[in-house]
Amino acid sequence: MNEQKRVVGLGFPSISTNFGDFPIDIAAEIGCEAIKEFLKLHKEFDFKLILTEQDSKVLNVFELKWKEIKDDLEDFKFQTKKGNLLQLKSDLRIECRFIVVETTWRMKPGTNQLSKQIFDALGSKLHEELKRLYPKPGIVGEAYPVKVPKDSDLHKSEGIEQIIFVVSPNMNPSRPDPVSLEKAKELLKKTYDSILNAFWELTNGQEYRSITTIKDNVQEVSAFDILMKSASKPSSKISPESSRRTPSKVGSGGWNNVLLPYCQKPEMFPKSEVYYYDNEFVIIFDKYPKAKNHLLVIPRKQIDNIGELKKQNLELVRALKEKGQWVIEKMKQENPKLFFRMGFHAVPSLRQLHMHVISQDFISPSLKNKKHWNSFTTEFFIDVEEIERILEKQGEVKFNKAYYEDLLKSPLKCHLCDAKSIKFIPDLKKHLEEHWNES
Ligand SMILES: [Zn+2]
Ligand SMILES: [Zn+2]
Repeated sequence: MNEQKRVVGLGFPSISTNFGDFPIDIAAEIGCEAIKEFLKLHKEFDFKLILTEQDSKVLNVFELKWKEIKDDLEDFKFQTKKGNLLQLKSDLRIECRFIVVETTWRMKPGTNQLSKQIFDALGSKLHEELKRLYPKPGIVGEAYPVKVPKDSDLHKSEGIEQIIFVVSPNMNPSRPDPVSLEKAKELLKKTYDSILNAFWELTNGQEYRSITTIKDNVQEVSAFDILMKSASKPSSKISPESSRRTPSKVGSGGWNNVLLPYCQKPEMFPKSEVYYYDNEFVIIFDKYPKAKNHLLVIPRKQIDNIGELKKQNLELVRALKEKGQWVIEKMKQENPKLFFRMGFHAVPSLRQLHMHVISQDFISPSLKNKKHWNSFTTEFFIDVEEIERILEKQGEVKFNKAYYEDLLKSPLKCHLCDAKSIKFIPDLKKHLEEHWNES
């Protein structure tokens, strides 16, 4: 298969070190960590992230840092290249459909070398489009993607489809809005996250779907990745005027609808997937269990998510709870040591309302990262009783998305004790085993 076609590339400079006076070693650390987190979360996807700079010193610092932290990530996924971002294809035969360019809050053309080159290549077109899509001043740390005109050389010869403009933090006192190192660190992390989020959303917009491996990998996309996709946070957003399609609008056959077939034809699935069904409910094993026992109780009637629930659905919620309790009893007969929680993720994940029934050991190879962990052990996980209470009181369930998504980034914390020094997932796994053996 043609590698060039399958892999989706993002080219970007070292953010804030060229014009912003940000110290390179710290920038490399923040950049590499953000990239690692992103690539680990989306392991199934063949993304290649290409850091491109003219200065080999900068590239070296990034390379060393990356080697130190990359773990088992494949080499092609993050590369450093000496060259010009706007000529990656003609000079180095590397195609990146998305390119990152730094700008200031004014988002004016020509504020740096790259921005000047774009202006030279396209005239004022791109910046006019930028202004049209995002009429307000840019915010430091946020990303603003703009489509490159199809008839331009940048698109035709270099294969660049979108420029993701970012307002990067600045520490240089002779440039606008300088900030302290402490503040700049925080903003640099935010900038990388916004870039990667924008990239993620763009590559999953329908018009890009055919060029990624998503289609081939439907079965391998973890439910959580899909959750993260539909939940990607609004801080990197992109004004509503943007004509870009958002992932939530993926059509009824889209791959965030993996639960629907279970509701429509539960009889078609093997016992290893469908645990139980009747006319109203189907109970399936979570495809990527995050604990010894992890099932989903799903109403067969189509309801997208908890946000659609009204007071009149209280009965349905109580029925879900009852089914959940029934499953828990069954599971406990097999293994009396287990104890359970049942509830929902605050930010709707897969389409079709589903209640997680999950044992609290969290011993499972599919529990792979901080977001997995935090989605079941922080307030992000809302017990079914809580949903009942909210519906009784307020008649609907509305959550502040940004607040809950931030919870997913919380430091790792044991859900059973006050153990300190659980910094990484392997530490956590060991710790969880200890709890299990003691119980
Ligand atoms: Zn879920
Ligand atoms: Zn503990």
